[in-house]
Order: sequence, then C-alpha cells, then structure tokens
Amino acid sequence: MLRQILIALSHSGTMQRMTVDFPPARRVARRFVAGESREDALQVIQKMNDGGVLVTLDYLGEHVTDKGLARASVEEYKTVLETIGARGLKSGVSLKLSAMGVHIDETFCYDNVREIVAVAREKQRFVRIDMEESALVDTTLRIYRELRQEFDNVGTVLQAYLHRTRGDLQALIDEGIADIRLVKGAYDEPPEIAWQDRAKIQEEIIDLSKMMLTPEAREKGARLALGSHDDVVYNQVIAYAADQGVAPDSWEIQFLYGIRRDELRRLVAEGHRMRVYVPYGESWYPYFMRRLAERPANLLFFLRAAAGR
Ligand SMILES: Cc1cc2nc3c(=O)[nH]c(=O)nc-3n(C[C@H](O)[C@H](O)[C@H](O)COP(=O)(O)OP(=O)(O)OC[C@H]3O[C@@H](n4cnc5c(N)ncnc54)[C@H](O)[C@@H]3O)c2cc1C
Repeated sequence: MLRQILIALSHSGTMQRMTVDFPPARRVARRFVAGESREDALQVIQKMNDGGVLVTLDYLGEHVTDKGLARASVEEYKTVLETIGARGLKSGVSLKLSAMGVHIDETFCYDNVREIVAVAREKQRFVRIDMEESALVDTTLRIYRELRQEFDNVGTVLQAYLHRTRGDLQALIDEGIADIRLVKGAYDEPPEIAWQDRAKIQEEIIDLSKMMLTPEAREKGARLALGSHDDVVYNQVIAYAADQGVAPDSWEIQFLYGIRRDELRRLVAEGHRMRVYVPYGESWYPYFMRRLAERPANLLFFLRAAAGR
C-alpha cells in the first residue's frame, strides 16, 4: 500500500516542487544520486573505477513532453560520453525512452537514441535502455530490435514481475540479441499482468537469469546483467553460473548507487564483475521516490532528516 502511494506520488508535480525545494529531501536524495552536475557524476565514476567497480551513468529525466528538453538530454548524453571516453573511464550509459521523447513521437525518440548509440559506439561504450511502466514495453522492445540491426553496443532491460517477460526473453535469446539487464521491476503494475508476491518474483528473476546462462543461450550471444541487491537472488545465480562453468567476466551484477555498499565491496573482492548505476542531474525526484517506495526504512530516514533529527 505504502509502495503504491509513493509510486503514485512520484508522478505528482506539486509534490515534486515541494520536495526539490526542501533541503532535507535534497540531502537524503544525495544518498542515491551522484549530484546535480556532470562533474559530480564523473567524480563518482572515477571513485567507483578506483574501487574496481564499473559504472552505467544515467542522466536523470523522464516523461518529457517537450522536444527541446529531449534534445537537451541527447546533447548531455553525447557530451558525457565524449568526456568518459577522453578520461578513459569505465562507464557506459543508461537512458529512459520517456526522456528521449517517446511520448512525443516514436520516430523522434528513435532518432535521439540512435544518435547517442552512434556516439557511444565511436567511444566503445555501451548504452542500456531502461524499462519503464508496462505501457512502454512493446515500444521499448520495438526500438531496441531496430537499433540492434545496426549496433551491438546497446542492450535493454526486462522486468521479472511481468507475466510476459519469459516469452519476451526467450524471443530475444532466439533472435541472438539478448543483451539484457534483468530486474524485479520498480513500477506499480496490476495483478492481471504482474506478479505481486515477493517470493514469486524472486523465483522468476532467478529462473530468467538461469535461462540466460544456459550453454545454448550463451552460444546465441545472451549476456546477462543481473540488476538486484537481493542476496537470495544473486547468491543462487552466482552458484548456478559457477556450476555451468560460465566465465566470471562474461556476466555481471549491477547495483544502484548508494545501496548495499558493503555487499558491493565484498562481491568485488570475491572477483565478481560489478557495475553500479549512477544517476545524476536536476530531475532526481521520480527516481528518488521509487527508491523510497522500494524500502520503507528509506522513508523513515527521510522523515527523520525532515524533522531535523
Ligand atoms: C542496476 C539496476 C538497474 C535497474 N533498472 C531498472 C529498470 O530499468 N526498470 C525497472 O523497473 N527497475 C529497475 N531497477 C529496480 C528494480 O526493478 C527493483 O525495484 C530494485 O532493484 C529493488 O529490487 P531488488 O532486486 O534489489 O530486491 P529487494 O528485495 O527490493 O532488495 C534487496 C535488499 O536490497 C536493499 N535495497 C533494495 N532497494 C533498496 C533501496 N531502494 N534502498 C535501500 N536499500 C535497498 C535492501 O537491503 C533489501 O533488503 C533497477 C535496479 C538495479 C539494481
């Protein structure tokens, strides 16, 4: 219930204005967001790389309805990719189609993403297309398939909570383009289309990960990035990968910035390929609200900070 309320509030313009101007909220958000400027983000990437961690950088913004804003986002991604390349940082980028103008026009959005993927290819960097609410899954997969005809430095995300995901994943494996980050799913989806039970979602994400690690899937080029901080999930997938003789550097585990830092260090020390998703930019409000929704303890932390304690 609390999760649903927080996700609903993530779309509220009034709450957004109140939150972003509220200093304690900005302080708590800094736990999950590298900062508002590009330089803040680049410094975090350097620090992560120094600790043996790879990065995927996200320039925050979503649900853009203005072409100018979408274009500004494209320019920011291109500039940051140039800088990442020039500084030799180990980082790709993640982006959201709703920031690229998918709600304005699909062709406009496709052209924007294509421009970023082309610059990333020049710089030998990878672009991951995040997955948003269920209404965007078909469009996201359509754009992803089209991009894969021309580029191989692009992947996308599938959400284990959706009933359809098993079929989507099998199709992408069969087509030889399953470069996928698997996650549980962060949006509020109805029971008709999404599992609601935590144990069931855990079971699904483990099973889907295994589907990507079978010798047949790997032969067809499947590459798994497991986006989860759930030790039940990643420990089972690590054990399965070892069992199947999967090379440790041929798949990876991804965490969000600011979450389970001790586990991140431990997994790096154990020799796992780890990547952190680092968001930056001024439009941090919806991202921040989803992080609160995932864990009620974050909300308490926020309320305590707001009360000045
Ligand atoms: C790299 C990455 C990229 C992602 N990309 C997408 C995407 O494109 N689309 C999408 O729908 N979802 C995305 N997600 C979010 C994902 O769907 C889940 O909502 C989120 O990862 C929480 O699920 P979990 O698997 O970590 O397990 P949980 O069971 O939620 O968490 C396991 C443990 O991790 C810690 N933890 C988890 N979340 C938090 C938090 N917010 N604050 C503090 N501690 C926490 C807690 O210790 C918790 O007990 C992404 C997640 C990651 C890690």
